[in-house]
Amino acid sequence: MADDRFHVYDTTLRDGAQQEGLNLTVADKLTVARHLDGLGVGFIEGGWPGANPKDTEFFRRARTELDLKHAQLAAFGATRRAGVKAADDPLVAALRESGAPVVTLVAKSHDRHVELALRTTLTENLAMIRDTVSHLRAEGQRVFLDAEHFFDGYKSNPAYALEVVRTAAEAGADVIALCDTNGGMLPDELGDVVLAAAGTQARLGIHCHDDTGCAVANTLAAVRAGVTHVQGCANGYGERSGNANLFTVVANLQLKRGFDLVPRESLADMTRIAHAITEVTNVTPNSHQPYVGVSAFAHKAGLHASAIKVDPNLYQHIDPAEVGNDMRMLVSDMAGRASVELKGRELGYTLSSQESRELVERVKVLESQGYTFEAADASFELLLRDTVGGDRRRHFSVESWRVIVEHPAGGDVVSEATVKLHAKGERIVATGEGNGPVNALDKAVRQALERLYPELARLELTDFKVRILEGTHGTQAITRVLITSSDDTGEWSTVGVDENIIEASWQALEQAVTYGLLRAGHEGE
Ligand SMILES: [Zn+2]
Repeated sequence: MADDRFHVYDTTLRDGAQQEGLNLTVADKLTVARHLDGLGVGFIEGGWPGANPKDTEFFRRARTELDLKHAQLAAFGATRRAGVKAADDPLVAALRESGAPVVTLVAKSHDRHVELALRTTLTENLAMIRDTVSHLRAEGQRVFLDAEHFFDGYKSNPAYALEVVRTAAEAGADVIALCDTNGGMLPDELGDVVLAAAGTQARLGIHCHDDTGCAVANTLAAVRAGVTHVQGCANGYGERSGNANLFTVVANLQLKRGFDLVPRESLADMTRIAHAITEVTNVTPNSHQPYVGVSAFAHKAGLHASAIKVDPNLYQHIDPAEVGNDMRMLVSDMAGRASVELKGRELGYTLSSQESRELVERVKVLESQGYTFEAADASFELLLRDTVGGDRRRHFSVESWRVIVEHPAGGDVVSEATVKLHAKGERIVATGEGNGPVNALDKAVRQALERLYPELARLELTDFKVRILEGTHGTQAITRVLITSSDDTGEWSTVGVDENIIEASWQALEQAVTYGLLRAGHEGE
């Protein structure tokens, strides 16, 4: 477990998930949590159990499916409702029952928000804080408190804002995180308010939004003023302009201020982790992101080029290797290396050095075409099997497939797929109908193979992600499709890439079925 003296607290799965267009399944959230744990953050806020069924399920599945090495899970929720006991409030019960060792309670610290939004008295708000914190503490959970709208509240009524901090600390909250909920603060002013709050003697944290472009700077100003708990989100995700980018905060504190926050080797994996998370969120990575962006250490050829050759440090603020980045690096190249070294071992294959080299080469070529193996573990394993065993044995071979999309006047759009396959010495022609082309193809493949492989009935496509990748050097844009499938024992993901979205989907689908059959114990022929 991470050192308790300084907290790195991630809220990607709760606050970051508020970002427009970002939609995470429970499985996605579990995967992101594993990546964050790999980075070595101390706390992962998983969501709001009780208020959101998906988040309740996340905490339930986390108990058996997450094996965290560094991080502890935190459940987020509100103080009890006005006029009831914390022990009787069903939402407080959901926090208690989440199984999370830490609960982060959000509480109002702005007098006008208490009166106008919460519609209760300032005194009752303090009672709600006191009662909820002490109740959860008595039930054995560690409690942090997010003081919502703290900085605006301090401007409106400083005595009350500080009273909220004091009340929470006295009731047993270990950390009071001061939140710049509207994100409007600037670093100098924010630092002054944190210093004033430090007078309460409570342990303080900071939670910043980036509406002034200062979320990271504000977080650093708060640390300088004495907070020992920083909150933020992977890649700066969050609503509006986003939250403080936790990766930038960690790199700044560790590399520029000498804090010992995450293991050195994890920091050196930060660029890979940042990109792996974008594969899950399906948000295009920001190439200019500090430290981890593809362009973060890339120089334009010309003026600097010769000097860089002499001494690269003249033109970069840190050695990019410290965060796993490179002066001139293709993400694919990096991902390839990491995938092959780590995943091969993880999957239990021993590769000869010749096979390793060959696999790295294949991954590099495929990733330069737009494939990604970070998020497509099953595709990687199939590729690995191909490399180790010559061409992997096939359960079926495809003669052809075809999809027709029809929109009859006044009716619904329907798709019809025909597949022609060879399996176990038979030629099979089958059709399937669906609401979309991929759905129709999926049905046709099952129709063709289920008689020979009844296990396919348990296979389910659970997620389908599409990303359009920009073409390079005048080529057309290409489409990458990631399909997640499941059976009754687990999940796996496969990838396909093509200029044509249906071909890309077909590739991912064909591998999904093949991998499903391997899992069911069919080695192919
Ligand atoms: Zn927030």
